[in-house]
Amino acid sequence: LTPVPSDIDISRAQQPKLINQLAEELGIYSHELELYGHYKAKVSPKVIERLQSRQNGKYILVSGITPTPLGEGKSTTTMGLVQALTAHLGKPAIANVRQPSLGPTLGVKGGAAGGGYSQVIPMDEFNLHLTGDIHAIGAANNLLAAAIDTRMFHETTQKNDATFYNRLVPKKSGKRKFTASMQRRIDRLGINKSNPDELTPEEINRFARLNIDPDTITIKRVVDINDRMLRQVTIGQAPTEKNHTRVTGFDITVASELMAILALSKDLRDMKERIGRIVVAADVNRSPVTVEDVGCTGALTALLRDAIKPNLMQTLEGTPVLVHAGPFANISIGASSVIADRVALKLIGTEPNAETEPGYVVTEAGFDFTMGGERFFNIKCRSSGLTPNTVVLVATVRALKSHGGAPDVKPGQPLPSAYTEENIEYIVKGAANMCKQIANIKQFGVPVVVAINRFETDTQGEIAAIKKAALEAGAFDAVTSNHWAEGGKGAIDLAKAVVEASKQPVDFHFLYDVNASVEEKLTTIVQKMYGGAAIDILPEAQQKIDMYKEQGFGNLPICIAKTQYSLSHDASLKGVPTGFTFPIRDVRLSNGAGYLYALAAEIQTIPGLATYAGYMAVEVDDDGEIDGLF
Ligand code: ADP
Repeated sequence: LTPVPSDIDISRAQQPKLINQLAEELGIYSHELELYGHYKAKVSPKVIERLQSRQNGKYILVSGITPTPLGEGKSTTTMGLVQALTAHLGKPAIANVRQPSLGPTLGVKGGAAGGGYSQVIPMDEFNLHLTGDIHAIGAANNLLAAAIDTRMFHETTQKNDATFYNRLVPKKSGKRKFTASMQRRIDRLGINKSNPDELTPEEINRFARLNIDPDTITIKRVVDINDRMLRQVTIGQAPTEKNHTRVTGFDITVASELMAILALSKDLRDMKERIGRIVVAADVNRSPVTVEDVGCTGALTALLRDAIKPNLMQTLEGTPVLVHAGPFANISIGASSVIADRVALKLIGTEPNAETEPGYVVTEAGFDFTMGGERFFNIKCRSSGLTPNTVVLVATVRALKSHGGAPDVKPGQPLPSAYTEENIEYIVKGAANMCKQIANIKQFGVPVVVAINRFETDTQGEIAAIKKAALEAGAFDAVTSNHWAEGGKGAIDLAKAVVEASKQPVDFHFLYDVNASVEEKLTTIVQKMYGGAAIDILPEAQQKIDMYKEQGFGNLPICIAKTQYSLSHDASLKGVPTGFTFPIRDVRLSNGAGYLYALAAEIQTIPGLATYAGYMAVEVDDDGEIDGLF
């Protein structure tokens, strides 16, 4: 329709297929499917084992150039591309995307279903609770937080070792028995006993007391709402806690390490091991205290047992979408899960001697390639062992203009005229950002297709200038895509280009060796990806790096948290800044997820709500239809 209706109106106007029908078309057996209503279902990761002999499908990553705050259409392009591949070129394809957090959905950014005629439907179910995975993560994380604080409370209020031990390992039916997790701790400590009554007083002390240093606790409580008032709180203020107060805070649920673990785990066993490895604090001797030590591994895994199964939904054109995990793109990898990718690659894969060609899995990584793509390759691909065949780099006229000198765009305000009228000069200048992203992708040895996500006001001259610059920079192809206005039909050229690019040889390699020093790894990312001259590690960050090295965590890959609006650490530096010194203010550990993260600035791990926020527009009619989500 012209004009294109609102995203929620388009979503509502389309009657989705029943999800069991879609699952059947994909070859998922009914016992591998758990229905959550008519249009959502969980898919068992056991599909991977059943289809083990299949050759994986082609693996396509959708990424983008340095965006404006309006978003340049990665999710929309992901949906448009799979719709074109499946519904128009007859090639099986699955889109893999993150589950959106309620924070941005009800805050400023809106949902993440894509937009226009390239969306996941029903978009209200996609954007709100889906099948409850984020809530499960919240419950698991908050159990862990409660376990840590309560353990410290009991350890400090019960000074006598024997009394404390008797309560920690109580008699049940007259007999005392270690739980499985207690026994694992006993074994780790080298105590070599299984009868709780045989521990010596020294062993009791070593086993029972974690001696957590409260200043080192890294686990915060979480909530999936942009509640800025919870950034800092004091807990333990009721008289029952006997003055055991502590200043802590909340993160948004998707910023939790458990969410990153859900995204990076290969299977249930791997998830359980990663959960056990999470370092929650250091003890008074600077040794790491883990979830295993707190005795929570089993319970946290139990709470996430269903969350580990990817969720099946569909696009507007009835093609499959797996929605799974949604780690915060800032301090984490900002990509959907390894398990969903593995399930999808098998579902559209082919047996070794099959006559048909394998299909396509199109997955997305948050922010621009230089952040999201770099982490996708260096962290997610290192975890999964998977190698992408092609990167689709989404570029827009508006983002290129913003890098070429046009005034800043601001959400909620009309676009300045430089964006709605032809201006080739801005495009030619701003293309440098796109060219740097292309060069960065090529450093990993993977072919690049530039997708020019078409907006109504783009002119032929502007588009021609983008194509020319992209091809000169070494893109395999550069095509215009009109999927927002036309659905899959508008992305046929893009789909054809992706099919051709995926036939090219891939010479994939990581950017750095994980065994290089933390300082070297940071320098490599800053110089090779961001274009900086050097790094400047602040003393506090250096102390943390030294501690992590001492604790044996120096050989993990690194996720750098910085602004998404510049290749550098300074959001005001558009285009391709060079020669800057990149500050490392803090370094933190996500040992369960399997990376260190370095912060270039104070990054908010729970966003706030503006005076006007998305939730204000949401309404529900008497039939339960939701309006106002975007
Ligand atoms: P990203 O995934 O890169 O953040 P999205 O795909 O979520 O970006 O798109 C951001 C917003 O821009 C969405 O509201 C979407 O509907 C809108 N949008 C995307 N592409 C177009 C287009 N070609 N024309 C108009 N609006 C678009």
